[in-house]
Amino acid sequence: MKKIAFYGKGGIGKSTCVSNISMALAEQGFTVMQIGCDPKADSTRNLTHGDLIPSVLSVIREKKNDICLEDIVSCGSGGVLCVEAGGPKPGSGCAGRGIITAFEQLEELGAYTTYHPDIILYDVLGDVVCGGFALPIRQGYADEICIVTSGEMMSLYAADNISQAVNNYSKRGYAALKGLIYNAKNIENEDEIVEKAAAEMNTKVLSRINRDPIVQKAENAGMTVVEYAPNSSQADLYRKLAGILLED
Ligand code: ADP
Ligand code: SF4
Ligand code: MG
Repeated sequence: MKKIAFYGKGGIGKSTCVSNISMALAEQGFTVMQIGCDPKADSTRNLTHGDLIPSVLSVIREKKNDICLEDIVSCGSGGVLCVEAGGPKPGSGCAGRGIITAFEQLEELGAYTTYHPDIILYDVLGDVVCGGFALPIRQGYADEICIVTSGEMMSLYAADNISQAVNNYSKRGYAALKGLIYNAKNIENEDEIVEKAAAEMNTKVLSRINRDPIVQKAENAGMTVVEYAPNSSQADLYRKLAGILLED
């Protein structure tokens, strides 16, 4: 079972990338589980035709101990197993703690032994790299970390913070940084800026994803690009990235 966590600044395009990767991997016949670890709890919306699935925490609140696996794992497009582990409500409680609770619940209910996912993708917020949000890195939840960034200063700043946290943990035998996913914003000299930043972080650019209006069109239809426009060049970019992620 391969377990990859995706970090990056809010709004940079993590959920879009991750759900397209999920769909591309599902297309190849893999059993994929996508776990959203963002309090926004909208990671999987493009896999569920725009419907927001209930977060694990909201199900726990509502049903207490009377929870079954189907309450927290939804079958999305292409058979991707969708989980929203983020929470709680904005402005209340610790979001990191929420993620831990959700992970524990998944394990208790036997999510991994029931579905046997080949690949688990964690879609994690990256503005804060506190102990809670670093959890997928620690405790063996993720083996590899990808950071989604553009060439914009604030997203590279977040990427650098995340890479430092990952490198600190990897010294202790936790997950290693696989590389950057460059989600272009079309700013001046962006390719050079991102390449240079990757070198400074001692990592590489895994893939460049074009900025393309097809992403919004697909999103408006509640779909990934891979599902909405399977023959588009943008869908192929996500497929190529998915292939790179499968490599060791
Ligand atoms: P995050 O999960 O990092 O908060 P999202 O994946 O929700 O970010 O993306 C934020 C917005 O950016 C969405 O409206 C999405 O459609 C748009 N977006 C992401 N990647 C691209 C792209 N390559 N081209 C065009 N729009 C994109
Ligand atoms: Fe929890 Fe991290 Fe937020 Fe602190 S910063 S409340 S540890 S999620
Ligand atoms: Mg997101």
